[in-house]
Amino acid sequence: MNITFLGAAQTVTGSCYVIRTGDVRFAVDCGMVQGNSAIEVRNYDTETYDPEHLDFILLTHAHIDHSGLLPRMVKHGFAGNIYCTAPTADLAALMLEDSAHIQETEQEWKSSHNQRKGREADITDEALYLTEDALATAKQLRAVPFGEAFEPAPGVRVTFRFAGHILGAALLDITVTEDGKSTRLVFSGDLGRPGALLLPDAETPETPDWLFVESTYGDRNHKGENDTLEELSEAIAYSYQHKEKVLIPAFAVERTQEILYSLILLRKQGRIPADMPVYVDSPMAAKATKIFVKYASHLRAPDLTLEDINKPEYAVTYTQTVKDSQELNLRKGPAIILSASGMCNAGRIRHHLKHNIWKPGVSIVFVGYQAMGTPGRKLVDGAKTLRLFGDELNVEARIFTINGFSAHAGQSQLLDWIGSMARPGMNVALIHGEPKAQTILAGLIKERFGITPVIPEYLEELSIQPGTLPAVHQPRPEASRPRVDWNFLMQEMDQRMAQLRDRMAHASDLPWEEQLELRDRLAEIEHDLFVFLSHM
Ligand SMILES: [Zn+2]
Ligand SMILES: [Zn+2]
Repeated sequence: MNITFLGAAQTVTGSCYVIRTGDVRFAVDCGMVQGNSAIEVRNYDTETYDPEHLDFILLTHAHIDHSGLLPRMVKHGFAGNIYCTAPTADLAALMLEDSAHIQETEQEWKSSHNQRKGREADITDEALYLTEDALATAKQLRAVPFGEAFEPAPGVRVTFRFAGHILGAALLDITVTEDGKSTRLVFSGDLGRPGALLLPDAETPETPDWLFVESTYGDRNHKGENDTLEELSEAIAYSYQHKEKVLIPAFAVERTQEILYSLILLRKQGRIPADMPVYVDSPMAAKATKIFVKYASHLRAPDLTLEDINKPEYAVTYTQTVKDSQELNLRKGPAIILSASGMCNAGRIRHHLKHNIWKPGVSIVFVGYQAMGTPGRKLVDGAKTLRLFGDELNVEARIFTINGFSAHAGQSQLLDWIGSMARPGMNVALIHGEPKAQTILAGLIKERFGITPVIPEYLEELSIQPGTLPAVHQPRPEASRPRVDWNFLMQEMDQRMAQLRDRMAHASDLPWEEQLELRDRLAEIEHDLFVFLSHM
């Protein structure tokens, strides 16, 4: 048996592992690569996936970094079944259609941009796929129940088991039989945090021959996991007292429902006043919430079920049209508004920020990861002003950051999960993580369980024969590690330095406080450069 790592190999996104055994060739996940343009070009390298010769695909969960290239495969000849759990099938259909819409919009923007700039088109100007491809993909999704083994092809037995993480997320327990000998593989998918509010803990299968485990948080634990409801209620009390709004930027799928559930718990405990309504201002979130209600039996809900969300006493309103959304800004008095995107870089949340961020008494509550460079990250890092729709606005709102909603297991939780299966003879491969996190986790796995994990890289092939040591082969080293363009980066640096010198000529005209702030920030950058140089 051969396993090729086509994504999430020493990176987090683009999960895809192609397994070949005898005449059967199948994939675990087929996710989109997200990051800088140098790595996103891999999304267009469809030949490497050879979709026409894939017999079937096993999908762990609906997140785009696991499902986002499925429509691309269908567009290029993949005609087989995509097996997943029932909630994943519904969520994937919703998310892939949305993803296709984003691809189409980006393509329109690129082609008009190219025309204006007179730039020649290249492969990445083509939309990865269109809405029709996403709709065709939805027809190939096949729901299978948790915990029941099935045989998608002769010699391959598969069981989907609870992984926590998001609604419908599964880990895969696969037995491959070749020449009468069986090998068991477990793919973790993305592993949830044990004790999460909405989802049950990940199951622990019996010890497999090979464990392929995600390592997103291999280098760190989550902080302050237990105070999430306290922190949320603190923000609500603060804004209620000032008769202002609480804004919660949240990803439309999973995080929004988790927050809604938390709000209902608080409402039941009397910690949200009756005259403080909750608005969900995201059509996508409204659709996703319906799917959560449909599959409420898959959720852990000790005090109430998600079906209760729509009871009138909880005062949750879903706004649909842009007009409904705009009316929220005219509405006086305290309210809680959940809206997307979670990092404030797109979507309706930006309008709510524009109308509220400069008001003392407003709360902005961050409940998810904020990537570098996004408005959300700037606010979390304490920005005093924020640029929105061309205006530089003062940040007078209070910023809250709640860490306890992470959908991924932290380091010690990953180790506990691996430890519950670790026996002599079990092999471990680390996937879905940055190299730094993987190296640290690998060290701890070696120390605790005496197992040295392999850390496959992009395009690497692992060959597994029962009773022999695994062999690793890299067919295209130049594709896995393309040359780094240092010249380009150095030119950019030179340009920035020239700009800095220009602007510095006028720095002493600025108000004194502003000069102090700029000086401190520049000193930080200088210090970073000093540290960087000392590492070279
Ligand atoms: Zn995920
Ligand atoms: Zn993932």
